[in-house]
Amino acid sequence: MPFERCAANPGWCRSSLRYGRSPSRGRVEPARRSSLMSNVTSEHADAVVVGSRIAGAAAAIAMARTGRHVIALDRVRFPSDTLSTHLMFPAHVAELVRLGALERVLAHRPPRVRHVMLSHQGVSASDRFLPVEGIDFGVCVPRPELDHALVETARAFGAEVREHSSVTDLLWDGDRVAGVRYRDKDSDEVREIRAPVTIGADGRRSVVAQLVGADRPYRGSRNGRGFVFWYMDDPKSDDRKWRETYVQWRAGGTHGMVFPTPSNRMLVSFMGPADRVALFRRDTQGMWERQLRENRRFAARVAGATNITRMRGTDDMVSFFRRSSGPGWALAGDAGHFKDPVLGQGIRDSLRHGRLVGEAVVRAGDDGPLAIDEALRAWEKERDDDCLPAYHWGNRETRIVGDDPLVIEALRTLAVDDLSEIGNAFSRRRNPEHVFGFRRSAGWLLRALSRPDADRGALLRRALGELLIDVDIRYERLLGHFRDSRPARSERPGWSWPIRKSQVALNGQGGAGSTGPAFVGGTMTDGVGNGTQDGSR
Ligand SMILES: Cc1cc2nc3c(=O)[nH]c(=O)nc-3n(C[C@H](O)[C@H](O)[C@H](O)COP(=O)(O)OP(=O)(O)OC[C@H]3O[C@@H](n4cnc5c(N)ncnc54)[C@H](O)[C@@H]3O)c2cc1C
Repeated sequence: MPFERCAANPGWCRSSLRYGRSPSRGRVEPARRSSLMSNVTSEHADAVVVGSRIAGAAAAIAMARTGRHVIALDRVRFPSDTLSTHLMFPAHVAELVRLGALERVLAHRPPRVRHVMLSHQGVSASDRFLPVEGIDFGVCVPRPELDHALVETARAFGAEVREHSSVTDLLWDGDRVAGVRYRDKDSDEVREIRAPVTIGADGRRSVVAQLVGADRPYRGSRNGRGFVFWYMDDPKSDDRKWRETYVQWRAGGTHGMVFPTPSNRMLVSFMGPADRVALFRRDTQGMWERQLRENRRFAARVAGATNITRMRGTDDMVSFFRRSSGPGWALAGDAGHFKDPVLGQGIRDSLRHGRLVGEAVVRAGDDGPLAIDEALRAWEKERDDDCLPAYHWGNRETRIVGDDPLVIEALRTLAVDDLSEIGNAFSRRRNPEHVFGFRRSAGWLLRALSRPDADRGALLRRALGELLIDVDIRYERLLGHFRDSRPARSERPGWSWPIRKSQVALNGQGGAGSTGPAFVGGTMTDGVGNGTQDGSR
């Protein structure tokens, strides 16, 4: 029986139990400790998961479906929205299949998106997705439905998902995390769950990360872009081509994007210089009109759209890696690693590495705490290896580069290349270092230089900058010293920690029949998506 040692003889997970932060972060005072230990309901599980959305549900599914007793806690009640778009490529969908959640997600009847198109200065390249484990389409299902489908799948596999349950402390056995203490927000009762492994899947502001002393990332990069988005009725709802295509139009330094969603709606977003988010907040209608003027092709796609929801966004998204495993604990999903959403990869990575951490625990489960810790370390290394290329790619994409002759040349070439592999890069079938790497970049540079109106000096400087980044990334990978090496040139300095809480979200509102997202002022939401429940579609 799994975890027999803990269940039958819980000595190692109960002895010298105490509360609060890890020894390195200070201990709870003895007097407080004894008062805390009385009057709390206590129970055992094989694993406890903090946070039940993407990574948390995936981890819970992986463990529960092998018969483990898993308790997953979340402080919100599902369905619940969070500050995130939800672009999913075939690699994301393949993870839903592995988790047994696809049917529930497809019940929301999202369009099956089979193409991705990138466009800059009137030059466009599109690519059809190739299958990832047999899946050749992406879907864009809003977070309340997507996350709820995952929660329901976890329950169907036997995980106990407790909503309105907010984790406040960890239980410790010496230097080992031995479970959690949480408050049931409905009854206001404080409870404990003891378990040989605790998985923090509680998002970027992870409480578990703080309590184990891993809050400050060891690598990070400042995002130069801000993100604003909202939903509209799709005026091209009858046009199969548009309903099956994710599109990104670049104009100046801003990406305008449209992703088809269920019920003939679409998600519309802009990623431009971070300081524009404040402008959107001050003058939403004016900024919307400005985007339409600056990005004509985007304007043509959305022309006539109505029924616009309020606008939301954030201007401060630090990409990072945190130490993500230790004795009896792991940090899955955004809690351990976050990368710029410009590429739409976070959900795939949270699903995949949430599942993998659960599977690692299952494999090690019968062999005691040291085996669990070793499995968690190996899992973390695998996550880093898998996520690092997309992290660097995201960091590069977040730099604000105005109209870019190199990108234009790249798109011209990729538009006629049967093996453009744009879709493969987004689907993680191919490492972006290969898709956008040395050989191809050299060709794009030569073509750009050969144009009569080329600014050759600027082009060469730009290409040299890119080359140095490529060299840095490859060198770091070959050395295998990700953690202790100096920051790579793809990483933007100046990131601060913790993430600023103000200026991260805005709250506009359109409404049925409206043709522009009028800003109405109002409350600021939690810009990191923890605990927001705002039904904003
Ligand atoms: C603006 C933006 C746009 C994005 N767009 C995309 C996209 O298009 N495609 C894509 O793939 N990725 C996207 N991402 C990334 C994606 O949102 C994340 O990678 C993903 O949500 C991570 O899932 P998670 O389960 O790790 O964390 P979260 O989704 O943050 O969930 C954490 C959960 O933990 C719970 N929790 C927190 N603290 C506690 C506590 N103390 N006790 C109990 N529960 C707790 C919260 O209530 C929450 O439900 C975007 C991110 C942002 C910021």
